[in-house]
Amino acid sequence: MEFKTIIEPFRIKSVEQIQLSTAEQRQKFIREAHYNPFLLRSNQVIIDLLTDSGTSAMSADQWAAIMRGDESYAGAESWYRFESAVSDLTGMPFILPAHQGRAAERILYSIRGGKDKMFVSNTHFDTTRANIEFTGAMAMDIPVKESANFSSEERFKGNLDLKLLEDQILANGPENMGGVIVTVTNNSGGGQPVSFSNLKEVSRICRQHNVMLILDACRIAENAYFIREFEKGCEQYSYSEIARMMCDLCDAVIMSAKKDALVNMGGFLALRDKKLADECIQSLIITEGFTTYGGLSGRDMEAIAVGLKEVFNPDYLRYRVRSTGYLGDSLKKSGIPVMSPSGGHAVYIVASEFYSHIPVNQYPGQTLVCELYKAGGIRAVEVGSVMFGKYDEKGDLIPARYELVRLAIPRRVYTQSHIDYVIEVCDHVYKNRKEARGMKITYEPGFLRHFTSRFEPV
Ligand SMILES: *Cc1c(COP(=O)(O)O)cnc(C)c1O
Repeated sequence: MEFKTIIEPFRIKSVEQIQLSTAEQRQKFIREAHYNPFLLRSNQVIIDLLTDSGTSAMSADQWAAIMRGDESYAGAESWYRFESAVSDLTGMPFILPAHQGRAAERILYSIRGGKDKMFVSNTHFDTTRANIEFTGAMAMDIPVKESANFSSEERFKGNLDLKLLEDQILANGPENMGGVIVTVTNNSGGGQPVSFSNLKEVSRICRQHNVMLILDACRIAENAYFIREFEKGCEQYSYSEIARMMCDLCDAVIMSAKKDALVNMGGFLALRDKKLADECIQSLIITEGFTTYGGLSGRDMEAIAVGLKEVFNPDYLRYRVRSTGYLGDSLKKSGIPVMSPSGGHAVYIVASEFYSHIPVNQYPGQTLVCELYKAGGIRAVEVGSVMFGKYDEKGDLIPARYELVRLAIPRRVYTQSHIDYVIEVCDHVYKNRKEARGMKITYEPGFLRHFTSRFEPV
């Protein structure tokens, strides 16, 4: 008999106190943070769903491995354990450690990018896009059409549009393609998975035209879970076998270890081509560190090596995806517009529908993150025109494709009752939605503006 209550397949060994607050206190905190939850202090937050990045709880085995950290400058034992774990996952011969994902991105894209180069992706993550555009290259998102249909239950909405991929390669010329990036799961596109057959087709097209295929593998274990559960012909493979088969289709793998490696800091770049690896290594040594640590301490590398194995535990993956789905399904039952079906690491609320009375240039997503904080101390992130909007020559907003708010679930951190609290708070905010007002930007920087922009209610 299978019971319906989702239990965490772990128990708690060490606890971290949450500082509770009143609605009056939070009103003041968010005003002082200029209505940008990125500017709150973490102890002003009750449930922190800002990101699943670097917020995982580590296991007793990871903490034990940390004690084994070999901090030698060169050739540390910890490096060899890290390299072996990354090599088991990716099968790539050249592995470059980096202090986080974007450092690996900067190294690769500063070499592959440059003026007149074009990158296409199912959806570029914000740091990916910024690193590409910073070199003068262009980054174009070509997800499948179903990715824009928030109510369809289609399972692989993270897929890349194969027709547009071929069109772009032919229109730009293969020699001007910096690369094709497949992000698994598709973080900015709603945390939706990519099917194995889609990746296989992308790979075939890239190989046919001699275009580099890069896997952004931040959430590869969660993506492998969806493939094994929902794609015909894949159920005979284990989750880690599926992950390896995905890497085998690509020329490079970039991973922020802050996601599916279950650690708080780290990343890597794995490459198949020696010439490119040599160029990247030069940049690595100048900016990150020597080839056997690349900005990571020995203990970080130990924790990653253990985390990369633990994340493929079937009980863990099943709990992870079910618990995220439980949050999404419960919100939907309350009538809240969420992206369907729920992805692996997050639930996305469709803020433009939630606050249908707030126009896009008044940032309904920013309003929602502030209301969730004021009501229940929940910190979420806007994934809409604050994050991805641009301006035309006249200074008018070119809005993002969607106005979403992401509730990202840290790995192994919150319990089922925390999730029930989140559901209750969202419900309350939804019932009072008519009273909410839009936001205007009072300060913004040029790049990645969602991190430091300031707002005021209109
Ligand atoms: C987090 C993330 C990155 C960047 O990694 P950092 O470790 O935050 O620098 C790149 N791509 C995707 C899909 C991500 O989720």
